[in-house]
Amino acid sequence: MRAKDIAVIPGDGIGPEITQAVLRVVDAAAEKSKTDLNWIFVSAGLGALEESEELIPERTMTEIARCKVALKGPCTTPVGEGFTSVNVRLRKAFNLYAAVRPVRSLPGVETRYKDVDIVIIRENTEGLYSGVENEITPGVVMSMKVASEVACQRISSWAFKFANRRERKKVTVLHKANIMKLTDGLFLRCADEVHQNDYPNLGFESVIIDAGCMKLVQDPSQFDVLLLENLYGDVVSDLCAGLVGGLGVVPGANYGDNEAVFEAVHGSAPDIAGQNLANPLALLMSAVMMLNYLAETEGRGNYAACARLIKTAYDDALIAGETTKDLGGSLGTAEFADVIIQRIAQL
Ligand code: ATP
Repeated sequence: MRAKDIAVIPGDGIGPEITQAVLRVVDAAAEKSKTDLNWIFVSAGLGALEESEELIPERTMTEIARCKVALKGPCTTPVGEGFTSVNVRLRKAFNLYAAVRPVRSLPGVETRYKDVDIVIIRENTEGLYSGVENEITPGVVMSMKVASEVACQRISSWAFKFANRRERKKVTVLHKANIMKLTDGLFLRCADEVHQNDYPNLGFESVIIDAGCMKLVQDPSQFDVLLLENLYGDVVSDLCAGLVGGLGVVPGANYGDNEAVFEAVHGSAPDIAGQNLANPLALLMSAVMMLNYLAETEGRGNYAACARLIKTAYDDALIAGETTKDLGGSLGTAEFADVIIQRIAQL
């Protein structure tokens, strides 16, 4: 069987070091499970801009389109000035409209909560990320929040279909439709319609987002699948990461109808870049999501077995307290990868 080509974007900041750690682990599991993967390295972000004067070189776009699946490290976006985000551009270019972030309590990771099991589904293409901002008059600027019926219905259908297929019990929309009556009102109405028309047997509730945030930190176990528009999804993802051990442990996937890009929820963390301090687990978990996605979509190969090996190995490492500093351990990025590789060899 031909090896599966996967586009890899190492990214900026901690991106290259966590990507290297993750690929070493996946390679070890792939060898053991006889899974044939072929990494196609492409660039995007600040590094690409410096090298080729293009934030996302043409080759990166063609390789993602050809491979259909990409594993992506974080890319830096300048604050308050400069170019638009690589993430936003990629999501728009490939119409990766559904961001999925599973947030789960991990064995061996001490937090305030024990039983968090939430899946965040974020609309990835519209809202305040439309990038339509202008200066009306000196000293007055505005940003346009865009919601279209097509996109609101599409993400609602995706979320309910996902919840149904994964045998989840309830979808909760977090919104602010009391203030943004048109945009959030449309988002809420579409979710309500998809529920009533197509999935009446699944639980559904709508919660105003400020109260929802309070409820999340009081008792996250009351939530199951969260459905949010773009900006709320971004903010609530980091909030939920805090419930289970921080940004180092929450993976993510961006799905379109044809392509899928897997990446951690966290950013490029320039404060710890190049110091062997970053936790590669969120990207490794994203790679596991990717392997499970390949198992579902490719219809052959040992992808699921490869994913299981990695998950068992990192679960065991976490239980044994073999973790990076952000989780209270003492291992560096590379040493954490070494530990998981050793555990894979013993499985
Ligand atoms: P962005 O705006 O690009 O999403 P962000 O605001 O979420 O980025 P990050 O770059 O993710 O910011 O970093 C936020 C904080 O979390 C930083 O202090 C960083 O060091 C820490 N952090 C992020 N990712 C990791 C990781 N993988 N391992 C350890 N610490 C991390």
